[in-house]
Amino acid sequence: MFMSKLKEALICLKAGRVTAAFPLGPEPHPPGDWYRGKIAVDVEKCIGCGGCANVCPARLIEITDDGPQRIIEYFLKRCTYCGRCAEVCPEDAIAMTREYQLATNLNDDLYIRTELYMGPCGRCGRCFKPASPLDKMMVTGFRNQSEGK
Ligand code: SF4
Ligand code: SF4
Repeated sequence: MFMSKLKEALICLKAGRVTAAFPLGPEPHPPGDWYRGKIAVDVEKCIGCGGCANVCPARLIEITDDGPQRIIEYFLKRCTYCGRCAEVCPEDAIAMTREYQLATNLNDDLYIRTELYMGPCGRCGRCFKPASPLDKMMVTGFRNQSEGK
């Protein structure tokens, strides 16, 4: 038993260091395009539909309406990097970045808050963000028709 352990130790010593010295040594290997890291939200594209909040398995996306203001909060401490939010977003407002060095003791580092002005409907009172995807589609459709596409 002792001899086999000694042999094992000698083999390991002969092999030398087999792990990267990061963060004290060279840069880490960059993750591939397929990698799912911290999410990024483009507030300019977001229409406030709430699709991301509906599908998030960790239930970390909270939506609050304050009059015509829709506040969307992302508490990323609970994120599992599943990518469902980015997959369902109709406006491609959420992207999975390749950022993975996320260890922190500051809550704000893993928190995103967006505020959208949502026009309330005169009839039902529900909020929507002008222009809607349908409006955009109509405009693009008419433009394409007028350009003969
Ligand atoms: S990646 Fe998954 S867990 Fe993280 S916010 Fe999106 S849906 Fe939620
Ligand atoms: S699914 Fe996309 S557009 Fe809808 S609220 Fe989420 S980020 Fe905004």
